[in-house]
Amino acid sequence: MMTLSNLAKFNATTTEQLKNARNAAAGAIRNLDPKKTAEKNLDWFAYTIHYAEGKKFESQAEEIAFLKQNGFNVGSYFKVNKTAQEVFDEIDLIDQKRRNEDILMDGVVIRLNNIAHREEFGFTAKFPRWAMAYKFEAEEVTSILKNVVWQVGRTGKLTPIAEIEPVELAGATIKRATLNNYGDILKKQVEIGSRVFIRRSNEVIPEILGLAEKLEGSQPITQPTKCPSCGADLVEVGAHIFCPNRDGCPDQIIDRLSNFTSKNGFDVEGLSISTITKLYEMFKIKYFHELFELTGQEFMCLEGFGGKKGRLANQVADAIQNSKQIQFDKFIYALGINEIGVKTAKDLAKKFSTLEALKNATFEQILEIYNIGEVVAKNVYEYFHNPKNIEELDKLIMYGIEIQEVKKQEFRETIFNQKTVVLTGTMQKYDRKTATEILEGLNATVVNSVSKNTDFLIAGENAGSKLTKAQTLGITILSEEEFLKNI
Ligand SMILES: [Zn+2]
Repeated sequence: MMTLSNLAKFNATTTEQLKNARNAAAGAIRNLDPKKTAEKNLDWFAYTIHYAEGKKFESQAEEIAFLKQNGFNVGSYFKVNKTAQEVFDEIDLIDQKRRNEDILMDGVVIRLNNIAHREEFGFTAKFPRWAMAYKFEAEEVTSILKNVVWQVGRTGKLTPIAEIEPVELAGATIKRATLNNYGDILKKQVEIGSRVFIRRSNEVIPEILGLAEKLEGSQPITQPTKCPSCGADLVEVGAHIFCPNRDGCPDQIIDRLSNFTSKNGFDVEGLSISTITKLYEMFKIKYFHELFELTGQEFMCLEGFGGKKGRLANQVADAIQNSKQIQFDKFIYALGINEIGVKTAKDLAKKFSTLEALKNATFEQILEIYNIGEVVAKNVYEYFHNPKNIEELDKLIMYGIEIQEVKKQEFRETIFNQKTVVLTGTMQKYDRKTATEILEGLNATVVNSVSKNTDFLIAGENAGSKLTKAQTLGITILSEEEFLKNI
């Protein structure tokens, strides 16, 4: 094995960084040049001894003691436990402590201490009955990258999805993992046929972290030039590639309609992605408003909807009509604007209250929302300044979509109600994010920069230019103490 400190020492001397101690050790052993192997400073633990002249071992504990006496490194974890509960407790303890150790540990071995008893227990066809391995939940594994497919999303963005040899990770079998974009692929130097590191992340789909080992015959991943769904020439925008064929690309249209009717959007029950695909194939449905033109008759033409006198077909058609009253934040989410998820849709709905206000919002006003950066603000602004989108929004209203204002919460009455607040400096009690959440919970709008529209500046320690600006503009300045008193 390679200790983590040796891995760090080795990486400090070379430009060819090794990412993972386990794979570095495996690679060093496989290397045919002993000098190269020696450079890696591998280490080993002795955990058992089968024969020593003139000695008979009665237990594992005696073996370990003997090995230690004779100068072998036996590691720091060996413990004799008397009950199953003690074993479980020890596993938990090791699991807590292992991240601070100098070696990677992915599990524990539990063995029967008494050697005479082991003989009585014997073996199954494959394994001893007196030893067992316990594996901690894996957070990172390696597997072979088999292929890369480019998925076209609702905004036309192509995402490379890696198909990998199935591998167990955190209790699930992983077959696919994301590779963000082409630049990411180049940076990570992964190739088809190579061994790659995979990590579970908060996303539904795990992520490929990097190259573990370049295997013989591996092939570079090529950047597509044509859309895999519609064949259009692709365009590069920043780090991403896009299919520009917005109104004619099947995958884009289907993903857009599916997002529109999803639980966080119009929440139409019974309209699965496969049904949307069939609707697209049979009726060439492209635009949101066309969904509201559908009746049970159309659904009856679809495979699987004809039976029971079209009851199912009428149910879905009704569900679409019944979804017309929609909360403003869900409506914003349904539009599928690039990078607008549930949270940002809520922030926008809260700030602008009505569709008219959102349509007329300036770039700067959108940017004032605490969690929105320039890229997202630009996406929102451009969406509502594209004539095609405005036409579609008008049609939706014409088809009877009723947008309901986000229900106003009952807020505790504080000085922050309906006020615009800026935070600066460091507070003792709360970090910036928590303080923002507290203020938003009191119906305040927290923004990044001080302007004449700011009601309060809350200044922690080491406040800088924002404080000076607020003083110049005559804005009420609160200390951390005053902030705490008022919440
Ligand atoms: Zn396309």
